[in-house]
Amino acid sequence: MWKTIINLLFPIYCLGCRQEGKFICSSCFEKIKMNEKYYFDKADILKKTLVVGCNDDELLKQMIYRYKYNFIKDLSKPLGQLMINKLIKDIKKNNLKKIILIPIPLHPKRLRWRGFNQAELLAEEISKELNIPVINNLLIRTKNNLPQAKIQKAFQRRQNVYNIFDLRGRASKATSLTLGGRKGVLERHGLDNDFKNKTLILVDDISTTSATLKEAARTLNILKPKQIWGLVLIKD
Ligand SMILES: [Zn+2]
Repeated sequence: MWKTIINLLFPIYCLGCRQEGKFICSSCFEKIKMNEKYYFDKADILKKTLVVGCNDDELLKQMIYRYKYNFIKDLSKPLGQLMINKLIKDIKKNNLKKIILIPIPLHPKRLRWRGFNQAELLAEEISKELNIPVINNLLIRTKNNLPQAKIQKAFQRRQNVYNIFDLRGRASKATSLTLGGRKGVLERHGLDNDFKNKTLILVDDISTTSATLKEAARTLNILKPKQIWGLVLIKD
């Protein structure tokens, strides 16, 4: 009922055509062009990054902006759907199996301030539709670094994300992994601690220099997964 009252007071308009009812109507949604380019770096731990859309798509950029900076949580559905459409094709093409989605975590302080992790909601949308597990507390953010968007130079962006992540239950030495907290996290998802046959897909909203994704991949690589991919909405 509250939702009805709120909708009456603050009607929702399509970001594309201003039609009343949804943040994005189905005909505008259909018009969002998929990015067919591939972003990959054989030498890097982050093997491939799937990019959903193009950064000249003003409507998509508007959706991401409203989602990320105006905190319109409902946009996680259409944005998540775009990620699903992209991922379905690549799962088939690359015969991917045993996938785990890992949303890029926020620092707890930033999460409290934002109220939700935008990457996590997108991963959950994918998980619901494609039945792929999402683990949101394996990779943790230990440093509250500056948002990458506030930094211009590529080398400063790399510096800004250096050592910002860690793994749950990791002992001080990378070689002696304690299973403690992590084992419980994995068991809850029906997974074991063996990553060698698993493809980890890092989920985030926007990627610029890929510095954050690469740093997350570097941390997750301690688990020795089969491969690590990235999935983002746009590469700005
Ligand atoms: Zn529309």
